[in-house]
Amino acid sequence: MILPKASRLTPDQVAQIIEIAAAFGCRIQTIVGTERSIYAIVGDERDDLLINRLEGLDFVERVDRIQSPHKLMDRRSDLASHRVQVGGVTLGEELFVIAGACTIDPKNPQLFLETAHAVKEAGAQALRGGVWKPRTNPYTFQGESKSLEILMEAHRQTGLPVDAEVMDEEQLRLALDAGVHTLQVGARNALNYSLLRAIGRAVADRPVAVLLKRGLHMGPIAEFISAAEYIVSQGNPNILLCPRGTAPALDGYRNHPDESITPLLKEKTWAPVVVDPSHSVGKAAFVPACALAAVAYGADGLCIEAHVEPGRGIGDDPKQALTPAALKETITRARALRRLLRPV
Ligand code: PEP
Ligand code: MN
Repeated sequence: MILPKASRLTPDQVAQIIEIAAAFGCRIQTIVGTERSIYAIVGDERDDLLINRLEGLDFVERVDRIQSPHKLMDRRSDLASHRVQVGGVTLGEELFVIAGACTIDPKNPQLFLETAHAVKEAGAQALRGGVWKPRTNPYTFQGESKSLEILMEAHRQTGLPVDAEVMDEEQLRLALDAGVHTLQVGARNALNYSLLRAIGRAVADRPVAVLLKRGLHMGPIAEFISAAEYIVSQGNPNILLCPRGTAPALDGYRNHPDESITPLLKEKTWAPVVVDPSHSVGKAAFVPACALAAVAYGADGLCIEAHVEPGRGIGDDPKQALTPAALKETITRARALRRLLRPV
């Protein structure tokens, strides 16, 4: 919908917008109002270049899009009836919980294996474990491929589906070959479009899910949804949207908690929302409150860092991982809250 700066366009100006629209296979329908005329674009208006060209005209005030640029992720899409699966678990009914260590310590596999059993005992349906880590500080431990074997051993021992972050195509290949059930796209890569597309392509014909974290510096909500569209457009709709806090941080927290975008995401898309309270607040003592807030906002699941002995963990675990007892209590309370909030 094109809104002109003046109350209506001159015939010459109308000819200009008709010509631009025609180059994108669209036509213009004039809607004559008493005060003002507006000009509807009839046809597929999703190409940003069409909007940019029209907005570039000095007689155009603005152009409002009617169609969603993320047509597959849109709530009105045919995919809305799709039920996302992680391993054998279908999202939607019980609150879904994925928990485990920030970073697997390749020198101490036992700690991760014990964590995996503890996470299962606490009620989580999926296990997370960082194999390769995106580190702000290049001199900090960056993860090791060896940890992939530890992650898969934990899967064999517990039966839980496992999640690992991948940051490039080599890691993507290794993770899929090993049999990882959920690929995590971290906050730093949420706008890495070639990686998003490569992941989408790689999972197109596999029963693998993708947990897409919200970018650290992401702006409009549409940016997050469009990132998901990059993956889903390649053919596999098993996607989980994961708000995990944004920068700049709320004073005292690790990031700015953003579980409150859950209802917005659910209004605009059909995808399950799995909130990560651990990276959001960044301190174990605050994680349970953030997790409960996420449930109150309507989250379908939680992604929580947990460790049998957080103090012996590496990566984020010493600060933000929950102990098995705290995880169990958080899961129990979060599931009870979800039941309480279910429509009567
Ligand atoms: C993580 O899950 O450990 C992690 C690094 O997440 P994020 O990308 O949200 O920082
Ligand atoms: Mn972490």
